[in-house]
Amino acid sequence: KLHNETHYQLRSYPGPVWLAGERYGISYSDKGQTSASRHATSFPFPRRRESILRDPKQPRRNMKYRVLECHRRSTSQLMANSVRVRFAPSPTGDPHVGNIRTAVFNWLFARHHGGSFAIRIEDTDQERSTQESIATILQGMEWLSLKSDEEPVYQSQRMDLYQQKADELIKSNFAYKCYCTQAELDEMRREQVERGENPRYDGRCRKVKEPKSDQFVVRFKSPDKGEVKISDHLFGDVLVSNQELDDFVLIRSNGMPTYHFVVVVDDHDMDISHVIRGDDHLKNTAKHIHLFNAFGYQLPKFIHLPMILGSDGSRLSKRHGAMDI
Ligand code: GLU
Repeated sequence: KLHNETHYQLRSYPGPVWLAGERYGISYSDKGQTSASRHATSFPFPRRRESILRDPKQPRRNMKYRVLECHRRSTSQLMANSVRVRFAPSPTGDPHVGNIRTAVFNWLFARHHGGSFAIRIEDTDQERSTQESIATILQGMEWLSLKSDEEPVYQSQRMDLYQQKADELIKSNFAYKCYCTQAELDEMRREQVERGENPRYDGRCRKVKEPKSDQFVVRFKSPDKGEVKISDHLFGDVLVSNQELDDFVLIRSNGMPTYHFVVVVDDHDMDISHVIRGDDHLKNTAKHIHLFNAFGYQLPKFIHLPMILGSDGSRLSKRHGAMDI
């Protein structure tokens, strides 16, 4: 379908990850090290796995079987020190080949490194998330044999954790309650546009000490000077000026947390070592890094994958004939 009927392009695709590993600073290759020395240092699997994987004559079926068997035996070691990745779809529609590509990369990365692969359903947007979409995603993953190594995590079931984490940030003065009404925000925006500035929240509620009403959002106190460096394993170092980020919302007025907030809480809580996702999220990562730092969490490694685009250069969608899986 991909090759014959529709023309797809990859935006600035730097080459297959597994071949370009060294160029992009990802150490997939075991060049310069013998298999034995690799095992002696950090690789948690029995040597048998490596030899099976390397022997091109081994039938594929056999390889898969043996790898999975080794995986089961070394789960405790895996948890201790290895790769953990996640595929985190928002269940707001049926997944198509573009979404699934992200899952495939995550799954391959986990399998390659003998790590684990988790599915996290990002269903905090109650209006747009549907049970049908969740079922389609999970069935689709199963159909594609992209099996998760653990039970799927549902963000909608973790609200207490998010509330607790938001309180923690308010207490440590990295977040604050904002009581601005929609009318005030509209007015702020109008004035900024009139002055030729980029519309952004101006931080006026940072100073508010006493509660003004029970209608508020929780905002992150984003640094307003300097810049943040995203060290991406494919794109290299990407600098984002902090002036481009405003005090973004962590908890909405209806009590629901936002994507930027929960993604950081969960990636830390789930011990994710590598965040592999579409490059449409690259700039969001600047916000996430500030949040990771505010919590004092260690940063995961970031790998943003170029998106599949339609023939007109825009992001692949149904309009281009992208089929639901
Ligand atoms: N729910 C987000 C999406 O579907 C996940 C992004 C991420 O992997 O952090 O785009």
